[in-house]
Amino acid sequence: MQAEGSGWRLDRLAFEQSLANQALQAGVSRYDAWLKHCQLTDQGWGIETEDGHKVRAKWLVDATGRRSVASKIHNIKKQKSPPLIAIWGIGKATQNLVPDARTITESDDSGWWYAAHLPDHRPLAIYHTSAAKAPVLKQEPQRWLKQLVQSRLISKHIDPEAFANTELRATDARTAWLSNAYGDHWIATGDAALCFDPLSSQGIFNAIAISDMATKAILSSNSDKALIQYQQKLDEVRNIYYFGKRLPDTN
Ligand SMILES: Cc1cc2nc3c(=O)[nH]c(=O)nc-3n(C[C@H](O)[C@H](O)[C@H](O)COP(=O)(O)OP(=O)(O)OC[C@H]3O[C@@H](n4cnc5c(N)ncnc54)[C@H](O)[C@@H]3O)c2cc1C
Repeated sequence: MQAEGSGWRLDRLAFEQSLANQALQAGVSRYDAWLKHCQLTDQGWGIETEDGHKVRAKWLVDATGRRSVASKIHNIKKQKSPPLIAIWGIGKATQNLVPDARTITESDDSGWWYAAHLPDHRPLAIYHTSAAKAPVLKQEPQRWLKQLVQSRLISKHIDPEAFANTELRATDARTAWLSNAYGDHWIATGDAALCFDPLSSQGIFNAIAISDMATKAILSSNSDKALIQYQQKLDEVRNIYYFGKRLPDTN
């Protein structure tokens, strides 16, 4: 239990599949491909994917996560906190520990651990650290494993032996935001617009909440005003989390 109630653990694959099914049932057409290029013309957006597929659209929504691909194509500036790199691996399911439903975090001198069991019982362990320390751990998985073994709580929650020969991956995990999250017939949402370091536990909640706002802004009869309010909300959330302060009330 947490001070403000229980946390939620999400089966991410099942959740995303169910979202996709709902969208298809609501009449959305789905096309899976990587975005290559997008340009606004008098006829709307011309969008081209890596496999050569072309689409026209009135609105472009950048929901490409931390990479903010569409916004990068248009040179929208990204603000970033100091680097935080997540070095992570997924171990094998073992019989040594009975998996439980808790997510555990633990800090040490050079970073912090996050560990949990996935729905298929495989353990996930992530060490978050600076850009100076991360490359060494990524290149020398034995060091990462040694630190895992030496952790006080994490090593009791997940079985370090499950990570023998596990390939480690590195992911940018810092807080970051676009200086402008919308423009002429485009909008960025989810992590593409504003992402937090994982300690916040805000990522999925934020992505869903601001995507809902972005949708309403696009569909609004007064979308100019709704888009300004969207940006204000992003600024407010970022300021509270990252700078620890609320914006002055402008109403
Ligand atoms: C190490 C780590 C741990 C985390 N732990 C938690 C946690 O415990 N709780 C929590 O709430 N959040 C957590 N998060 C954050 C959470 O995963 C994100 O906030 C959330 O996934 C954001 O959703 P999104 O849809 O905006 O982006 P994403 O989930 O990143 O989805 C972006 C999509 O865009 C696609 N895409 C990318 N580039 C292109 C392209 N060129 N063309 C087409 N498609 C593209 C990707 O394939 C992907 O499907 C964690 C993040 C990290 C890095």
